[in-house]
Amino acid sequence: MGEAERISYDKAIEELRLQEYPMLQGTTYLDHAGTTLYAKSLIDRFSADMISNLYGNPHSASNSSQLTTRRVEDIRLRLLSLFNADPAEFDVVFVANATAGIKLVMDAFRDHEEGYWYGYHRDAHTSLIGVRESAASHRCFASDAEVNKWIEEGGRGVIRPSLFAYPAQSNMNGRRLPLNWSRRIRTNKQGPVYTLLDAAAFVSTSPLDLSDSESAPDFTVLSLYKMFGFPDLGALIVRQASSSVFDKRRYFGGGTVEMVVCLTEQWHAKKSDSLHERLEDGTLPIHSIMALDTAMSVHQELYTSLEQVSRHTAFLAARLFQELSELRHGNGSSVCQVYKGATSVYGDSRTQGPIVAFNLRNQCGGWVSNAEVEKVAAVKSFQLRTGGLCNPGGVASSLGLAPWEMRENFSAGQRCGNDNDIIRAKPTGMIRVSLGAMSTLHDVTSFVDFVREFFVQETPPLMALPVTSSYIEPPTPCRLHVESLSIYPIKSCAAYSVPPGKAWEVRREGLAWDREWCLVHQGTGAALSQKRYPKMTLIRPSIDMEEGLLHVRLAGCLRDTTFGNEITIPLSADPRMFSNEAIYKVANAKVCGDAIRAKTYRSSEISSFFSQALGVACHLARFPAVGSGSGSLASSRHTKPHLQKSSTGSMHIPGAFPDTKPLIPGTTVSKPILLSNESPILTISRSSLNRINELIKAEGGKAAQAEVFRANIVVAENPRYPPGAEQPYAEDDWRYVQIGQQYFEMLGPCRRCQMVCVDQHTAERNQEPFVTLSKTRRFDGRVYFGEHTCHLPMDDPASPLVQNPTISVGDSVRPYLDDGVDEDPILSALVT
Ligand SMILES: *Cc1c(COP(=O)(O)O)cnc(C)c1O
Repeated sequence: MGEAERISYDKAIEELRLQEYPMLQGTTYLDHAGTTLYAKSLIDRFSADMISNLYGNPHSASNSSQLTTRRVEDIRLRLLSLFNADPAEFDVVFVANATAGIKLVMDAFRDHEEGYWYGYHRDAHTSLIGVRESAASHRCFASDAEVNKWIEEGGRGVIRPSLFAYPAQSNMNGRRLPLNWSRRIRTNKQGPVYTLLDAAAFVSTSPLDLSDSESAPDFTVLSLYKMFGFPDLGALIVRQASSSVFDKRRYFGGGTVEMVVCLTEQWHAKKSDSLHERLEDGTLPIHSIMALDTAMSVHQELYTSLEQVSRHTAFLAARLFQELSELRHGNGSSVCQVYKGATSVYGDSRTQGPIVAFNLRNQCGGWVSNAEVEKVAAVKSFQLRTGGLCNPGGVASSLGLAPWEMRENFSAGQRCGNDNDIIRAKPTGMIRVSLGAMSTLHDVTSFVDFVREFFVQETPPLMALPVTSSYIEPPTPCRLHVESLSIYPIKSCAAYSVPPGKAWEVRREGLAWDREWCLVHQGTGAALSQKRYPKMTLIRPSIDMEEGLLHVRLAGCLRDTTFGNEITIPLSADPRMFSNEAIYKVANAKVCGDAIRAKTYRSSEISSFFSQALGVACHLARFPAVGSGSGSLASSRHTKPHLQKSSTGSMHIPGAFPDTKPLIPGTTVSKPILLSNESPILTISRSSLNRINELIKAEGGKAAQAEVFRANIVVAENPRYPPGAEQPYAEDDWRYVQIGQQYFEMLGPCRRCQMVCVDQHTAERNQEPFVTLSKTRRFDGRVYFGEHTCHLPMDDPASPLVQNPTISVGDSVRPYLDDGVDEDPILSALVT
């Protein structure tokens, strides 16, 4: 749309708005006069009421008290009529906020002798989810379809009182849920199943019709301040026919009892006249209730009705959604990832409310930090919300976060509202923009302009980083590729082979999940190693990302040493699983001479599984992930400085010429690792192994498996290259390698010990390959095979290659010698 068109379009909209809201004549659409007018009218009228009337505490005979009682009764009626609710069929209970209304319903169910069953929808607000903690049993419904199926099944087996709760509108993305569930549950279910509708988000921009009490929810909660801005008040609307649920509520307080007797005889008589009298504990917030009356009047005068507000906001939201969705970077990639319900249609108020939830991407496809967006938005006076939005189920499913990832993120220090909001290349929260009666088209267009101004990138970045996998094709085919990737989830136990095609994350500490766990001796706290316990190789861990589990199976002669031969451990580091006191014991644990701090699992089932398998009393322990909260960095181990290739001058010497610069500040001398012995990643070459095995076989020995070297990356000659073109030990001279799109630094050769003689399939000890290695690969009295390696993260924090660096089996491998660095502009930029 051109500028001229847009202005005439905006004019037309403005006329439309004046038809919708005649009281706004004289204000202009393109400023906030409407909001100001509303706020001023409301507060002026409320203060006039307060100045001219004296309202006393209800329940006494004075005029002021009687005035209060009368007005409160009128306001109750008025609020009910706003929802077409007949006072003969519904009662309204004033509460502090929607959450307080939910808790009142929860109290009543909790006080049933047999307990209660609680079901809630995944899109529920945190305040609804918390109810489950007092239920005897509970279920989270993952989709509307699951709810429909459950309703159709007709409630066989419902014995306990049951409560099903859901939001009429998701407070996360504004999706509107079916309003007919209450009626269908009432007609289909045979048992006592009640419904609690959380209308807190819904009614702020939509009418709610309770005229048919047969199809109405039993309990409806509202946040009145979300409808009117002021006063701070909530309401619980109860269907009279369902009010007997509250007979079981045990608590009573001032205002809700007729008589209480203490001391020797202890009885009380609850009020029985009306439901609200029984449920409104303590003094009512009477002045807030008066203000509600004023708010309803002013709102109606300015905005006419909730139907009108619904039309207005639906129109604005459709426009906001469309414009955000259409934003593109200069390279054509989209800017906003909007999270919308599958069946939601913006502009259709039955399926979608006026809320847009989204995240921003940069032109490389990486995520923009929400904390950053929020900071700029605050400066520009946009009131938006970011983070988990008090809607854990909805946010997790929209962002594709598995429960273990959420726990893992929590363990890694992520909290609602902190800056650490992109973890493992996924945002941990979202941005939410909500529109209300007071919002204007100008709000919408200026917000879109704001996103365009600050977050749309028109020109490509200066240094062309390899941004997408299709973009970077190596100029010449590589002779080397990644033959296999292995990780050792439990130190000294068997390898887990990364499945071909699976992109595996490389972290600063090494490949994801490598040496994350270890076994520690119950007496000494020392980490167990294959050197002493060769059977550890028959303990076979595997990582199941979908389920979020570490599976550990026993193989060979360890089978049948324990019941079941298998155990599963959650990948998430749930703090409740770890014992506290044992941290100190393990603080003395020794991994190759360095003190480590790992946390031991408190489960006796886990300890006895490993103890019985190995015949040594041990605990499973987990190394706290780097960056997990405070203090853990100090305990992480570092690569040993002797690995640095001194010839390349990787230590920074001020004033030296040519000036040498640390690759990554603070990491040149030592790089963090988990429990692997010396460096983050170990790389070996298939050609070198073939050379060793030729020699072993020539002497009549048994060829060594690649696994005995406990490498993470096995690099092999590409099968397209003719055999015989192998270059064994070429890796001795590599300074850097590029694997796929990631760069790595070679830290130096790996010293070998007799551990390479443990057959990784049978746990038997051999002589080879150590004998042959020591004949052919000994330098200065030490035996070397394989190369220590560490990942070189790229600088640009916006690139997805930086946010989620991964490598895969089959990736091409391009080595660089010292003098070859300049051939690659990205590498030379990384290291100089
Ligand atoms: C705001 C909100 C709540 C919580 O309301 P309070 O008035 O803060 O207790 C619950 N559910 C939904 C859907 C909400 O939008």
